[in-house]
Amino acid sequence: MRLLPALFLLPLLSACGGGGNDPVSPPPPPPPPSVASVRLSATDVALVSGASAQLVATALDAAGQTVAGKSAAWTTDDANVAPVTASGSVTGTRVGTARVTATIDGKTASAQVVVTTGPATALEVTAGNDQDGEVGAAPPTAPQVRVRDFGNNPVVGAVVTLAVTSGDGRLIGPATVTTNAAGTATVTNWRLGVLPGPNILTASNSGLSTPIRATGRYPRATADRPDEVQGDQFHLIYAVPSDGVDRALDGSGRLAVSAAVAQRFLAVSTGGRRLKLDTFNGGVLDITFVRLSRTDARIGAGANPVDSIEVDLAQSGTLKPGKLYLVWYDGGSRDACAQAKLPPGNPGQVGALYLKGSFSGGTGQCLDLAAGMAAAPSDAPKYWEFLLAHEALHTIGVVGAQAPHHQAAFPGHVPEPTDLMYAGTAPWAPSVVDVGGDDYAGSGLAGSVPNLFTSSFGETVPSALLMADRQAMARTPFAPLRGIRIDLACRPVTP
Ligand SMILES: [Zn+2]
Repeated sequence: MRLLPALFLLPLLSACGGGGNDPVSPPPPPPPPSVASVRLSATDVALVSGASAQLVATALDAAGQTVAGKSAAWTTDDANVAPVTASGSVTGTRVGTARVTATIDGKTASAQVVVTTGPATALEVTAGNDQDGEVGAAPPTAPQVRVRDFGNNPVVGAVVTLAVTSGDGRLIGPATVTTNAAGTATVTNWRLGVLPGPNILTASNSGLSTPIRATGRYPRATADRPDEVQGDQFHLIYAVPSDGVDRALDGSGRLAVSAAVAQRFLAVSTGGRRLKLDTFNGGVLDITFVRLSRTDARIGAGANPVDSIEVDLAQSGTLKPGKLYLVWYDGGSRDACAQAKLPPGNPGQVGALYLKGSFSGGTGQCLDLAAGMAAAPSDAPKYWEFLLAHEALHTIGVVGAQAPHHQAAFPGHVPEPTDLMYAGTAPWAPSVVDVGGDDYAGSGLAGSVPNLFTSSFGETVPSALLMADRQAMARTPFAPLRGIRIDLACRPVTP
């Protein structure tokens, strides 16, 4: 029985380290130094919005010695201004002042963080985007753009550059605007293009850009608008017979495009001369819509529809002295696709295109719009553009009987089939305005000869615009018309 306790004791001694018999306990480890204070790597931090700084907190004992192995908990009193991460990285965000604090074992230290505006990181349209406006005019709501930094702070005094990047709009005056105290800038000097359709103005700052979009609409007018340019000029009319379908070719911009393409052809072909057209809003063609009082049968069945149209327009008070009128008549005819008065022998004010016309007693059909009219400003001139120019020149007396190559057999015309003012039995292939420059569009003609260069109904194209016209024409060379007989297309009314 006495052996039993010893047997139990042995394993216990082994467990305590092999049975040593040292009675002295090891000295206790020194107490860990307590944290008396916290020191920060910086106590004043200045940041622009978007920038970050790394703060470092050091625990100190009462003697000012570093206490190792301690980490800080980080807090900010305004996370909107200066949020801080668990590792002490602070980021400037909203403009203002915040206090960032590090806490170790209940001891704290803090840094003041002052955030100021940073570089632009966002540029956006805040007003006036995607609106409709009148062609040639400023959009109804002045567009506004806003510049902001990383923290959505307004960037004050930012210079925003403006550029017309789509459509034929323009800027009046400087191509920059500067942001105000709210970081916004208002665009008041943008004018929409003179042709209906989409316009884009691009605003840029600091490598950022945003489109401002507006759509130009052509408001219908039933009377001549106040004239932008004084003196002699051509006025344009879209006329529909009393019983005709109104295809709204004025408001759609189709006729304005056609006239612009015709003008470009004239300018390039003559070296800088074109028709002086009635405009408003800085170059928008003033096209008057007229619902005629006569039926299409009454007008179009006559030998000279242009006569009926002129009488109708005169009776409605549409015609004014000192102006000539080019009329797109949305109705028919029997023997011509277009006609015009030819002073002095046949005085009058009107040239007319019969958009649904026919010839040869109604057996031949004039080209429809799809086949014969330019649809886009960049298009080459087509049949209706040549006719518009042709009839316009008739109304100023071209080709005059005094011109060297005037054809008595075809009054008002010259004999070259490539000439805009040709008439004869060969197919018409217009590509030249006044072959040789000696009959109706030259600078050296006798003063008595009706001449686009000296006519008060003509105008000289500014050189910069002429250069642009030449480039546009070069991009879209036109195929000469084939198989169109001018005597079927145009029949100047002779007394
Ligand atoms: Zn003719």
